[in-house]
Amino acid sequence: MILRVVLLATCLSIFPITGKAANNLGILGARPKWSVLESYQETVTHDEFAHLIYDVYCTHGFAPDLIEVNTDTARILTNRESQNFFTLRFAKDDTSRNPVPRLWDPARSLPPAKGHKPLSGLRIALDPGHLGGEWAKMEERWFQVDSTQPVQEGDLTLKVARLLAPRLRELGAKVFFVRNSNEPVTAKRPDDLVRWQSEILFYRYSEIRRRAALVNFKLHPDLVLCLHFNAEGWGDPNNPTLTDINHLHLLVNGSYLQEELEFDDERFEMIRRLLSRAYDEELPLADTIAGTMARQTQLPPYQYPTTNSTTKVGTSGYVYARNLLATRLYRCPVVYCEPYVMNSKDGFARIQAGDYEGTRNINGLERKSIFREYAESVTDGLVEYYSKVRGL
Ligand SMILES: [Zn+2]
Repeated sequence: MILRVVLLATCLSIFPITGKAANNLGILGARPKWSVLESYQETVTHDEFAHLIYDVYCTHGFAPDLIEVNTDTARILTNRESQNFFTLRFAKDDTSRNPVPRLWDPARSLPPAKGHKPLSGLRIALDPGHLGGEWAKMEERWFQVDSTQPVQEGDLTLKVARLLAPRLRELGAKVFFVRNSNEPVTAKRPDDLVRWQSEILFYRYSEIRRRAALVNFKLHPDLVLCLHFNAEGWGDPNNPTLTDINHLHLLVNGSYLQEELEFDDERFEMIRRLLSRAYDEELPLADTIAGTMARQTQLPPYQYPTTNSTTKVGTSGYVYARNLLATRLYRCPVVYCEPYVMNSKDGFARIQAGDYEGTRNINGLERKSIFREYAESVTDGLVEYYSKVRGL
Protein backbone atom coordinates (compact mmCIF):
# COMPACT_ATOMS: atom_id res chain seq x y z
CA MET A 1 0.00 0.00 0.00
CA ILE A 2 1.30 3.41 -0.94
CA LEU A 3 0.22 6.75 0.41
CA ARG A 4 1.41 9.87 -1.29
CA VAL A 5 2.49 12.50 1.18
CA VAL A 6 2.70 16.14 0.34
CA LEU A 7 5.59 17.77 2.15
CA LEU A 8 5.89 21.51 2.15
CA ALA A 9 8.78 22.96 0.20
CA THR A 10 9.95 24.95 3.22
CA CYS A 11 10.85 21.64 4.82
CA LEU A 12 13.93 21.57 2.57
CA SER A 13 15.47 24.61 4.20
CA ILE A 14 16.30 22.65 7.34
CA PHE A 15 18.99 20.72 5.46
CA PRO A 16 22.39 22.32 5.05
CA ILE A 17 23.21 23.83 1.70
CA THR A 18 26.84 23.62 0.68
CA GLY A 19 28.86 24.85 -2.30
CA LYS A 20 28.39 27.95 -4.36
CA ALA A 21 25.68 26.71 -6.68
CA ALA A 22 23.32 24.97 -4.30
CA ASN A 23 21.95 21.60 -5.28
CA ASN A 24 18.21 21.42 -5.48
CA LEU A 25 17.60 18.22 -3.50
CA GLY A 26 14.56 16.22 -2.47
CA ILE A 27 13.81 15.21 1.13
CA LEU A 28 16.94 13.77 2.77
CA GLY A 29 18.32 13.52 -0.78
CA ALA A 30 21.98 12.79 -1.43
CA ARG A 31 24.14 15.13 -3.49
CA PRO A 32 24.37 13.65 -6.97
CA LYS A 33 27.75 12.46 -8.23
CA TRP A 34 27.32 13.24 -11.89
CA SER A 35 30.85 12.09 -12.74
CA VAL A 36 29.88 8.43 -12.19
CA LEU A 37 27.77 8.71 -15.34
CA GLU A 38 31.01 8.97 -17.35
CA SER A 39 31.31 5.20 -17.14
CA TYR A 40 28.05 4.88 -19.10
CA GLN A 41 29.38 6.71 -22.17
CA GLU A 42 28.42 4.99 -25.43
CA THR A 43 26.49 2.22 -23.68
CA VAL A 44 23.09 3.19 -25.10
CA THR A 45 21.92 4.14 -28.60
CA HIS A 46 19.93 7.26 -29.35
CA ASP A 47 16.77 5.24 -30.04
CA GLU A 48 16.98 3.20 -26.83
CA PHE A 49 17.63 6.32 -24.76
CA ALA A 50 14.77 8.24 -26.38
CA HIS A 51 12.39 5.31 -25.85
CA LEU A 52 13.31 5.03 -22.17
CA ILE A 53 12.98 8.78 -21.60
CA TYR A 54 9.69 9.33 -23.42
CA ASP A 55 7.89 6.01 -22.85
CA VAL A 56 9.10 4.95 -19.41
CA TYR A 57 10.80 7.51 -17.17
CA CYS A 58 9.55 10.95 -18.23
CA THR A 59 6.04 10.19 -19.45
CA HIS A 60 4.64 13.33 -17.81
CA GLY A 61 7.03 15.68 -19.65
CA PHE A 62 9.75 17.94 -18.22
CA ALA A 63 11.13 21.46 -18.45
CA PRO A 64 13.03 21.69 -21.78
CA ASP A 65 16.38 22.63 -20.23
CA LEU A 66 16.50 19.47 -18.07
CA ILE A 67 17.15 16.91 -20.79
CA GLU A 68 17.93 17.61 -24.42
CA VAL A 69 18.02 14.55 -26.68
CA ASN A 70 20.15 15.26 -29.75
CA THR A 71 21.29 12.95 -32.58
CA ASP A 72 24.59 11.81 -31.07
CA THR A 73 24.37 13.02 -27.48
CA ALA A 74 21.98 13.87 -24.67
CA ARG A 75 22.55 16.96 -22.58
CA ILE A 76 21.37 16.72 -18.99
CA LEU A 77 21.16 19.69 -16.64
CA THR A 78 23.21 19.11 -13.49
CA ASN A 79 22.75 22.52 -11.90
CA ARG A 80 20.47 25.24 -13.12
CA GLU A 81 21.99 28.03 -11.07
CA SER A 82 25.50 27.47 -12.42
CA GLN A 83 24.19 26.25 -15.82
CA ASN A 84 26.21 23.04 -15.70
CA PHE A 85 25.39 20.07 -17.87
CA PHE A 86 26.42 16.46 -18.30
CA THR A 87 26.82 15.27 -21.87
CA LEU A 88 26.11 11.62 -22.62
CA ARG A 89 27.47 10.26 -25.90
CA PHE A 90 25.29 7.61 -27.56
CA ALA A 91 26.60 4.34 -28.97
CA LYS A 92 26.47 4.45 -32.79
CA ASP A 93 24.61 1.15 -33.00
CA ASP A 94 23.96 -2.11 -31.16
CA THR A 95 27.27 -3.69 -32.13
CA SER A 96 29.57 -0.83 -31.12
CA ARG A 97 27.96 -0.34 -27.74
CA ASN A 98 30.20 -0.38 -24.63
CA PRO A 99 29.25 -2.86 -21.90
CA VAL A 100 26.99 -1.45 -19.17
CA PRO A 101 28.84 -1.24 -15.83
CA ARG A 102 26.74 -2.73 -13.04
CA LEU A 103 26.98 -4.77 -9.87
CA TRP A 104 24.00 -7.03 -10.66
CA ASP A 105 23.71 -9.75 -13.27
CA PRO A 106 20.89 -9.84 -15.79
CA ALA A 107 19.30 -13.31 -16.14
CA ARG A 108 21.10 -13.97 -19.42
CA SER A 109 24.54 -13.28 -17.86
CA LEU A 110 24.18 -15.53 -14.82
CA PRO A 111 26.57 -18.49 -14.68
CA PRO A 112 25.05 -21.71 -16.08
CA ALA A 113 22.28 -23.02 -13.82
CA LYS A 114 23.49 -25.86 -11.57
CA GLY A 115 21.45 -29.04 -11.29
CA HIS A 116 18.66 -27.51 -13.32
CA LYS A 117 17.84 -25.19 -10.47
CA PRO A 118 16.39 -22.19 -12.31
CA LEU A 119 17.42 -19.65 -9.64
CA SER A 120 20.96 -20.93 -9.03
CA GLY A 121 23.53 -18.15 -8.75
CA LEU A 122 20.80 -15.51 -8.42
CA ARG A 123 21.01 -13.09 -5.47
CA ILE A 124 17.56 -11.95 -4.35
CA ALA A 125 16.88 -9.39 -1.62
CA LEU A 126 13.42 -9.52 -0.06
CA ASP A 127 12.07 -6.18 1.13
CA PRO A 128 8.93 -6.73 3.21
CA GLY A 129 7.20 -3.35 3.06
CA HIS A 130 6.76 -1.14 6.14
CA LEU A 131 7.62 -1.98 9.75
CA GLY A 132 4.65 -3.58 11.48
CA GLY A 133 4.72 -4.40 15.18
CA GLU A 134 4.53 -1.42 17.49
CA TRP A 135 5.14 0.92 14.52
CA ALA A 136 2.10 -0.14 12.50
CA LYS A 137 -0.25 2.50 13.94
CA MET A 138 2.23 5.32 13.46
CA GLU A 139 2.87 4.34 9.84
CA GLU A 140 -0.93 4.12 9.32
CA ARG A 141 -0.74 0.48 8.27
CA TRP A 142 -3.11 -0.68 10.98
CA PHE A 143 -6.84 -1.33 11.29
CA GLN A 144 -8.99 -3.48 13.49
CA VAL A 145 -12.53 -4.82 13.01
CA ASP A 146 -14.27 -5.12 16.40
CA SER A 147 -12.12 -7.34 18.59
CA THR A 148 -10.53 -9.38 15.77
CA GLN A 149 -6.77 -9.55 15.22
CA PRO A 150 -5.55 -6.11 14.05
CA VAL A 151 -4.40 -6.04 10.42
CA GLN A 152 -0.85 -4.65 10.21
CA GLU A 153 0.62 -4.58 6.70
CA GLY A 154 4.23 -4.71 7.93
CA ASP A 155 3.58 -8.00 9.73
CA LEU A 156 1.78 -9.53 6.75
CA THR A 157 4.60 -8.71 4.34
CA LEU A 158 7.22 -10.17 6.69
CA LYS A 159 5.18 -13.37 6.96
CA VAL A 160 5.16 -13.65 3.15
CA ALA A 161 8.92 -12.99 2.97
CA ARG A 162 9.59 -15.75 5.49
CA LEU A 163 7.51 -18.21 3.45
CA LEU A 164 9.14 -17.08 0.22
CA ALA A 165 12.80 -17.32 1.31
CA PRO A 166 13.05 -21.10 1.79
CA ARG A 167 11.20 -21.71 -1.49
CA LEU A 168 13.65 -19.53 -3.39
CA ARG A 169 16.67 -21.09 -1.66
CA GLU A 170 15.38 -24.54 -2.61
CA LEU A 171 15.47 -23.38 -6.25
CA GLY A 172 19.11 -22.28 -5.94
CA ALA A 173 18.82 -18.58 -5.09
CA LYS A 174 20.87 -16.81 -2.45
CA VAL A 175 18.26 -14.89 -0.43
CA PHE A 176 18.73 -11.85 1.80
CA PHE A 177 16.25 -9.96 3.95
CA VAL A 178 16.29 -6.19 3.80
CA ARG A 179 14.18 -6.39 6.98
CA ASN A 180 13.64 -9.54 9.03
CA SER A 181 11.96 -8.21 12.16
CA ASN A 182 9.35 -5.61 13.02
CA GLU A 183 12.07 -3.18 14.03
CA PRO A 184 13.31 -0.40 11.71
CA VAL A 185 16.57 -0.82 9.79
CA THR A 186 17.39 2.86 10.36
CA ALA A 187 19.04 3.66 13.67
CA LYS A 188 17.25 7.00 13.72
CA ARG A 189 14.05 7.35 15.72
CA PRO A 190 11.39 10.04 15.36
CA ASP A 191 12.75 12.04 18.30
CA ASP A 192 16.12 12.41 16.60
CA LEU A 193 14.64 14.11 13.58
CA VAL A 194 12.83 17.37 13.10
CA ARG A 195 9.78 17.40 15.30
CA TRP A 196 7.15 18.38 12.77
CA GLN A 197 6.60 15.64 10.25
CA SER A 198 9.33 13.72 12.02
CA GLU A 199 7.33 10.53 11.91
CA ILE A 200 6.92 10.71 8.17
CA LEU A 201 10.58 11.55 7.71
CA PHE A 202 11.41 8.59 9.90
CA TYR A 203 9.34 5.81 8.41
CA ARG A 204 9.11 6.97 4.85
CA TYR A 205 12.46 8.56 4.08
CA SER A 206 15.11 7.71 6.65
CA GLU A 207 14.04 4.06 6.81
CA ILE A 208 13.93 3.53 3.04
CA ARG A 209 17.25 5.33 2.49
CA ARG A 210 18.83 3.10 5.14
CA ARG A 211 17.43 0.02 3.40
CA ALA A 212 18.81 1.30 0.10
CA ALA A 213 22.28 1.67 1.62
CA LEU A 214 22.08 -1.93 2.81
CA VAL A 215 21.02 -3.13 -0.64
CA ASN A 216 23.48 -1.00 -2.62
CA PHE A 217 26.60 -1.23 -0.49
CA LYS A 218 26.31 -4.58 1.25
CA LEU A 219 23.93 -7.07 -0.33
CA HIS A 220 24.49 -6.34 -4.05
CA PRO A 221 21.50 -8.42 -5.17
CA ASP A 222 20.54 -9.13 -8.77
CA LEU A 223 16.95 -8.40 -7.87
CA VAL A 224 14.91 -6.82 -5.06
CA LEU A 225 11.36 -8.00 -4.46
CA CYS A 226 9.32 -5.41 -2.56
CA LEU A 227 6.40 -7.15 -0.89
CA HIS A 228 3.26 -5.22 -0.02
CA PHE A 229 -0.47 -5.70 0.46
CA ASN A 230 -2.79 -3.09 -0.98
CA ALA A 231 -5.81 -1.39 0.59
CA GLU A 232 -8.73 0.81 -0.32
CA GLY A 233 -9.48 3.77 1.94
CA TRP A 234 -10.70 2.25 5.22
CA GLY A 235 -11.71 5.43 7.06
CA ASP A 236 -11.61 5.08 10.82
CA PRO A 237 -8.97 2.41 11.61
CA ASN A 238 -11.00 1.37 14.67
CA ASN A 239 -14.15 1.00 12.60
CA PRO A 240 -12.81 0.34 9.10
CA THR A 241 -14.83 0.06 5.93
CA LEU A 242 -14.71 -3.38 4.33
CA THR A 243 -15.22 -3.41 0.57
CA ASP A 244 -16.04 -5.83 -2.27
CA ILE A 245 -13.16 -4.36 -4.27
CA ASN A 246 -10.04 -6.51 -4.57
CA HIS A 247 -7.20 -6.32 -7.10
CA LEU A 248 -3.55 -6.84 -8.03
CA HIS A 249 -0.82 -4.74 -9.58
CA LEU A 250 2.96 -4.60 -9.77
CA LEU A 251 5.25 -1.59 -10.05
CA VAL A 252 8.58 -0.88 -11.68
CA ASN A 253 10.44 2.41 -11.57
CA GLY A 254 9.50 5.13 -14.04
CA SER A 255 6.80 7.73 -14.69
CA TYR A 256 8.59 10.59 -12.90
CA LEU A 257 6.55 13.72 -12.29
CA GLN A 258 7.72 17.02 -13.74
CA GLU A 259 8.33 18.39 -10.26
CA GLU A 260 10.32 15.31 -9.25
CA LEU A 261 12.63 15.74 -12.25
CA GLU A 262 13.35 19.29 -11.09
CA PHE A 263 15.23 17.88 -8.07
CA ASP A 264 18.88 17.36 -8.99
CA ASP A 265 19.15 14.13 -7.00
CA GLU A 266 15.99 12.59 -8.46
CA ARG A 267 16.98 13.52 -12.01
CA PHE A 268 20.44 12.06 -11.45
CA GLU A 269 19.03 8.86 -9.93
CA MET A 270 16.59 8.54 -12.82
CA ILE A 271 19.35 8.87 -15.43
CA ARG A 272 21.64 6.47 -13.56
CA ARG A 273 18.83 3.95 -13.31
CA LEU A 274 17.94 4.35 -16.98
CA LEU A 275 21.58 3.82 -17.99
CA SER A 276 21.92 0.73 -15.75
CA ARG A 277 19.21 -0.80 -17.95
CA ALA A 278 17.39 -2.21 -14.92
CA TYR A 279 14.13 -1.70 -16.82
CA ASP A 280 15.12 -4.25 -19.49
CA GLU A 281 15.18 -6.88 -16.74
CA GLU A 282 12.47 -5.74 -14.35
CA LEU A 283 9.73 -5.18 -16.90
CA PRO A 284 9.61 -8.71 -18.42
CA LEU A 285 10.14 -10.15 -14.94
CA ALA A 286 7.27 -8.08 -13.48
CA ASP A 287 5.05 -9.08 -16.41
CA THR A 288 5.83 -12.76 -15.85
CA ILE A 289 5.23 -12.57 -12.08
CA ALA A 290 2.01 -10.65 -12.76
CA GLY A 291 0.87 -13.55 -14.94
CA THR A 292 1.45 -16.23 -12.31
CA MET A 293 0.00 -14.06 -9.53
CA ALA A 294 -3.09 -13.26 -11.59
CA ARG A 295 -3.64 -16.94 -12.34
CA GLN A 296 -3.36 -18.03 -8.73
CA THR A 297 -5.03 -15.11 -6.99
CA GLN A 298 -7.74 -14.67 -9.65
CA LEU A 299 -7.53 -10.95 -8.99
CA PRO A 300 -8.31 -8.37 -11.68
CA PRO A 301 -5.74 -5.68 -12.53
CA TYR A 302 -5.94 -2.52 -10.46
CA GLN A 303 -6.80 0.57 -12.48
CA TYR A 304 -5.37 3.77 -11.05
CA PRO A 305 -8.14 6.40 -10.88
CA THR A 306 -5.90 8.89 -12.72
CA THR A 307 -2.77 8.71 -14.86
CA ASN A 308 -1.19 11.57 -12.87
CA SER A 309 1.56 9.52 -11.25
CA THR A 310 1.67 6.18 -13.07
CA THR A 311 2.07 4.84 -16.59
CA LYS A 312 0.91 1.40 -17.62
CA VAL A 313 3.79 -0.59 -19.11
CA GLY A 314 4.40 -4.09 -20.42
CA THR A 315 1.90 -6.55 -21.83
CA SER A 316 0.19 -8.21 -18.84
CA GLY A 317 -2.11 -5.29 -17.97
CA TYR A 318 -1.00 -5.51 -14.33
CA VAL A 319 2.28 -3.57 -14.40
CA TYR A 320 2.72 0.17 -13.91
CA ALA A 321 5.76 2.43 -13.87
CA ARG A 322 5.85 4.71 -10.85
CA ASN A 323 8.56 6.69 -9.10
CA LEU A 324 8.68 5.34 -5.56
CA LEU A 325 11.67 5.87 -3.31
CA ALA A 326 12.35 2.12 -3.07
CA THR A 327 12.03 1.43 -6.79
CA ARG A 328 14.31 4.40 -7.52
CA LEU A 329 17.06 3.97 -4.92
CA TYR A 330 17.81 0.24 -5.10
CA ARG A 331 20.48 0.04 -7.81
CA CYS A 332 19.30 -3.15 -9.45
CA PRO A 333 16.06 -4.47 -10.95
CA VAL A 334 13.17 -4.02 -8.51
CA VAL A 335 9.75 -5.65 -8.74
CA TYR A 336 7.22 -4.14 -6.34
CA CYS A 337 4.19 -6.36 -5.68
CA GLU A 338 0.83 -4.95 -4.58
CA PRO A 339 -1.64 -7.86 -4.45
CA TYR A 340 -4.81 -8.08 -2.34
CA VAL A 341 -6.90 -5.32 -0.81
CA MET A 342 -6.44 -5.93 2.94
CA ASN A 343 -9.82 -4.39 3.75
CA SER A 344 -11.69 -6.28 1.04
CA LYS A 345 -14.18 -8.73 2.53
CA ASP A 346 -12.28 -11.62 0.95
CA GLY A 347 -8.80 -10.35 1.79
CA PHE A 348 -9.78 -9.57 5.37
CA ALA A 349 -11.32 -13.04 5.92
CA ARG A 350 -8.20 -14.70 4.49
CA ILE A 351 -5.86 -12.58 6.63
CA GLN A 352 -7.91 -13.46 9.72
CA ALA A 353 -7.65 -17.16 8.81
CA GLY A 354 -3.87 -16.85 9.15
CA ASP A 355 -1.35 -19.22 7.58
CA TYR A 356 -2.24 -22.90 7.15
CA GLU A 357 -1.36 -25.88 4.98
CA GLY A 358 -3.65 -27.10 2.20
CA THR A 359 -6.93 -25.31 1.59
CA ARG A 360 -9.82 -24.04 3.66
CA ASN A 361 -13.28 -22.87 2.79
CA ILE A 362 -13.34 -19.07 2.86
CA ASN A 363 -16.47 -17.21 1.77
CA GLY A 364 -17.61 -20.36 -0.07
CA LEU A 365 -14.35 -21.11 -1.92
CA GLU A 366 -11.53 -23.54 -1.16
CA ARG A 367 -8.48 -21.31 -0.78
CA LYS A 368 -4.83 -21.69 0.10
CA SER A 369 -3.63 -19.44 2.89
CA ILE A 370 -3.27 -15.93 1.50
CA PHE A 371 0.39 -15.89 2.58
CA ARG A 372 1.27 -19.15 0.80
CA GLU A 373 -0.66 -18.19 -2.30
CA TYR A 374 1.35 -14.92 -2.39
CA ALA A 375 4.71 -16.65 -1.84
CA GLU A 376 4.00 -19.49 -4.26
CA SER A 377 2.68 -17.32 -7.06
CA VAL A 378 5.76 -15.06 -6.85
CA THR A 379 8.00 -18.15 -6.84
CA ASP A 380 6.25 -19.54 -9.91
CA GLY A 381 6.79 -16.27 -11.77
CA LEU A 382 10.51 -16.27 -10.95
CA VAL A 383 10.85 -19.91 -12.06
CA GLU A 384 9.02 -19.20 -15.31
CA TYR A 385 11.13 -16.14 -16.13
CA TYR A 386 14.57 -17.48 -15.21
CA SER A 387 13.93 -20.92 -16.76
CA LYS A 388 12.96 -19.29 -20.02
CA VAL A 389 15.83 -16.80 -20.21
CA ARG A 390 18.40 -19.38 -19.10
CA GLY A 391 17.02 -21.97 -21.53
CA LEU A 392 16.12 -24.61 -18.94
ZN1 LIG B 1 2.55 -1.15 1.42
